[in-house]
Amino acid sequence: MIVAEFLYNAPRGRGKVFRIKGPKGSIQIQISYTNRKYTSRGTVGKRLEYQVDKMHLGDDWIEDDFPDMRIALEQIGVSYEEKSRLDWLQAVYQGKYTPLRANITEPLSWDDELDGQTTTTYHRDQLSLRESLLADRTEAPCIICGDIFPEDLLWAAHLKKRSVCTEEEKKDHANVAKLMCKMGCDDLYEKGYLGVVEGKIRPFRRSSLPVVAERLNSLSGRTCSAWNDKTSVYFKWHFEYFNAENVQD
Ligand SMILES: [Zn+2]
Repeated sequence: MIVAEFLYNAPRGRGKVFRIKGPKGSIQIQISYTNRKYTSRGTVGKRLEYQVDKMHLGDDWIEDDFPDMRIALEQIGVSYEEKSRLDWLQAVYQGKYTPLRANITEPLSWDDELDGQTTTTYHRDQLSLRESLLADRTEAPCIICGDIFPEDLLWAAHLKKRSVCTEEEKKDHANVAKLMCKMGCDDLYEKGYLGVVEGKIRPFRRSSLPVVAERLNSLSGRTCSAWNDKTSVYFKWHFEYFNAENVQD
């Protein structure tokens, strides 16, 4: 389960809104920062100070008198890994926060709304979806990298986010979901790092981190075996969802 998920930029200022999820629930927080000047041993410097502007604990946004960050997090079963609250806020704000995984073994990021499903039925559905895509195979190729993986390293990934699929699309099991490996491809797709355009894997965004950039580079241009008349509509939805105007060749 992803613990810190970026939702949107606040309409004004530098605020960013994140959903923090834990095993016992979720809260939303808006984080921003102030650029403060400080003087140390005669030199003047600047320091970014991160703060929580407001909190959403399930009913409404609270702008004043919200509970201490640590208390709010404890209530949903999350605790800091970093030493201090400020480090934690900074890491979340900058997207460097390493997602903690709670007891649930399967990621929920893409379909976290669950549209009324409980976590248990969601996971049961995921397992049966994977089984149907595996069709009695114990290993199968990942549609993104093309490598063959054992079944427990494959994830039945929705090409179009499940929570926005029509009832009909949800039932289109064979086309709306495909097997992607848990060795990275599933996350790269669901987080919009890459997608499939006219049957080819294309990076949707750049990363300054070499390991990510190289991975995207090596996958770029691969032919995706899952692209066809029936799946292209879902891949196109994914492309538009991530607004990937600057697709790199
Ligand atoms: Zn893969």
